[in-house]
Amino acid sequence: MNLTAYGENAQTALGKSAEKIIFLEEILSVTNQNSDIYKLNNSNGNEVKVNEDTANIINTSCQISDMTNGALDITLYPVIKEWGFTTEKYKIPEKTKLDELLLNVNYKNISVNGLSVTIPQKYQLDTGALTKGYTGDKVAEILKNHDIQSALINLGGNIHTVGSKPDGSLWRVGIKNPFDTNEQLCILSIEDKAVITSGNYERYFEGDDGKKYWHIIDPKDGSPADNGLVSVTIIGDSGIMCDALSTALFVMGKEKAIAYHKGSNDFDMILVSDDRKIYITNGIENNFENVSNMEVILLN
Ligand code: AMP
Ligand code: MG
Repeated sequence: MNLTAYGENAQTALGKSAEKIIFLEEILSVTNQNSDIYKLNNSNGNEVKVNEDTANIINTSCQISDMTNGALDITLYPVIKEWGFTTEKYKIPEKTKLDELLLNVNYKNISVNGLSVTIPQKYQLDTGALTKGYTGDKVAEILKNHDIQSALINLGGNIHTVGSKPDGSLWRVGIKNPFDTNEQLCILSIEDKAVITSGNYERYFEGDDGKKYWHIIDPKDGSPADNGLVSVTIIGDSGIMCDALSTALFVMGKEKAIAYHKGSNDFDMILVSDDRKIYITNGIENNFENVSNMEVILLN
């Protein structure tokens, strides 16, 4: 994590931001026994009182799940564990095991009533697909409340910008090349936006069969989503929406992601397909600089 803020109150604002980040980590962690998520995952079907942030994240994630036909599903945690993505003790699960675990995966069975959350027995949540985006929103909010007009929030590669650079020019954000993560794919010039990427290169392992298995799972079959995309970058005003959509559109694949974008004009995106093409939406055409040798296709 790396936070940079400019302005008179920057020091205080960054201190408050760090406190908020630590707090969110404490309540959302799947391993910390005092976290809301841990309590839910060990609740045996009983109601758990959670913090407002947790309720916000669960509510938003369920909305995006509805909007994306279940491509995003925070109840996938038992499946993600089975693949070893939580412990780095990777293995390819048996199909019968995945089918058995999928019986207890369905975001529709999460019930939220104010700050009271209930999930069925055997259900387990992991909000990792949206946490960084939400955290970026909260940090940006704290900075703005401290009259900060220029800041760059980098949460492990998820970028959230406040205003423009102190000299008034746009922030320049580099996106990694999924085929060679030491190289950049493109540079985006932006202000006051979140830029969030989901990629198959972030966490993966190679199976004994020589195939690559990555951490973004298709809730339909419990296996890594392999629908033609290797990375999805979402650019928009709301970090939590960008983060949720980066994961969901990765799962949906190229065609469905393009169709989804057509029906909703509140974000821009950069898709990289497994046949080495870059698809960008027209809202960022003038703020996008290709620094790879891949072909760029403009969507409208
Ligand atoms: P992101 O990097 O934002 O795409 O989030 C990916 C993380 O979310 C993974 O490391 C998993 O912990 C979790 N995850 C994987 N697939 C899904 C999915 N389809 N819906 C919700 N969370 C997922
Ligand atoms: Mg995400």
